[in-house]
Amino acid sequence: MPAPANPAHVALLPSAGMGHLTPFLRLASSLISLGCRVTLLRPLPIVSSAESLQFSDFLSSHPSVHCLDLHLLPFQPSSADSTDPFFLQFESISRSAPLLLPQLLLPLEPKPSALVTDIFLTSSVAPVSRTRLNLPCFVLFTSSASMLSLCASFNIPGSPFVDASMVPPVLRDPNNLFAQQFSNNGAALVATDGVLVNTFDALEPRALAALNQGEVLEGLPRVFAIGPLKPLESKRARARELEWLDQQPERSVVYVSFGSRTALSEEQIKELARALERSGFRFMWVVKTQVVDKEDEEGLEGLFGEGFMERVKERGLVVKDWVEQGEILAHGAVAAFVSHCGWNSMTEAAMHGVRVLAWPCNGDQRINAGVVEAAGMGRMLKGWEWGCGGEKVVAGEVVEEALREIMEDAMVGAGAARVREEAVRAVVVGGSSRESLAELIEKLSKS
Ligand code: UDP
Ligand code: UDP
Repeated sequence: MPAPANPAHVALLPSAGMGHLTPFLRLASSLISLGCRVTLLRPLPIVSSAESLQFSDFLSSHPSVHCLDLHLLPFQPSSADSTDPFFLQFESISRSAPLLLPQLLLPLEPKPSALVTDIFLTSSVAPVSRTRLNLPCFVLFTSSASMLSLCASFNIPGSPFVDASMVPPVLRDPNNLFAQQFSNNGAALVATDGVLVNTFDALEPRALAALNQGEVLEGLPRVFAIGPLKPLESKRARARELEWLDQQPERSVVYVSFGSRTALSEEQIKELARALERSGFRFMWVVKTQVVDKEDEEGLEGLFGEGFMERVKERGLVVKDWVEQGEILAHGAVAAFVSHCGWNSMTEAAMHGVRVLAWPCNGDQRINAGVVEAAGMGRMLKGWEWGCGGEKVVAGEVVEEALREIMEDAMVGAGAARVREEAVRAVVVGGSSRESLAELIEKLSKS
């Protein structure tokens, strides 16, 4: 595509956690490759090492990006607030951003033509953007279009898009601070200029049509399905996980990971280890025992039960570190992905045609698991019931049976392959997401 005469200059303000930062940086990279100028706002301090590294890798490989540090103001959480460090960071950014954005963006030359922010910051940032900065404000919704339907209609009594079994426990308590913010951010969507979603028409046709035809919420701005967003290219040396995968037969490995910030309980880790051992499948398992990576210093010893590592060493690799998940899912030896259904992970599985055993833990994950099932690329674990956090432990036998089912189900294998083809089609020239992105860029440059 030729560079536009008057290129868009987009300021991007992400919130916290890799699940949010990753799609922002992928979007930034796509915008740059299509001729846009990008100013990136970086909230400091950063919670996890993975985020710090991602910022520095991105900035060194995209030297044209102008990065502005947003030094968060001191914030004392009350004892009633959640103790989840990412959640506290959402709150801290949403308090600081309205005060700091004018200082950072008003003097900027050339002036940005639009601001893109995170759904968790919408109610605090959109009004400032539009009134004080005089900038159109777009939201990058970091989950699925189906989750966007729930978010946008959360305040509408009797909305068919709010199915109680899909709503995470934390959102069922109207006094919970997170539930209140979720509701405020959903309500603020009507006062934005557009919503970007890392999905594609063929993956979520019904949700996208309902959103754009005003069935979910009257007055909702245009929803742009621009995914799957292309992962950033890694400049690092080829990891040992990939070398290990090279030694495994085609489509034989079960890859197990619950994302960047979900720690399983010790009991659940033991049951999952039993399942992987009993199943006999080859596997690669990324284990996390703490929410924040910096605190995850415990070794693997004693985690799985006596002798596990020795018994599975010929066919299993256990990792307790950050892995290049995109490259793992792209490897031909991987057959299935046991996942908590974080949306970035799901778009990556879709892109590479990897079938999913869905084991949702909290937040948007139950809804995302539903998307994966409806698309025919995965199945949900029975008996999970918002499990992995520790309140409920799913027995090894249940997981083992589910592993067999997913590995042996040819229909789901074919479904995953079909979704991959559709994902590729969406992003090539003339594809639905590629066209949406072009339309979006035109809108972003007009101010
Ligand atoms: N990820 C990774 N290596 C890891 C853990 C996670 O590359 O060891 C990436 C993963 O590919 C995805 C993102 O981090 O792009 C996690 O986002 P997701 O929405 O899947 O889940 P969250 O971590 O927010 O729960
Ligand atoms: N959370 C929490 N206590 C609360 C509210 C939220 O611990 O009172 C956490 C919870 O872990 C949840 C996260 O905040 O996972 C944010 O929710 P969501 O999963 O929708 O966001 P994401 O995983 O994309 O960051």
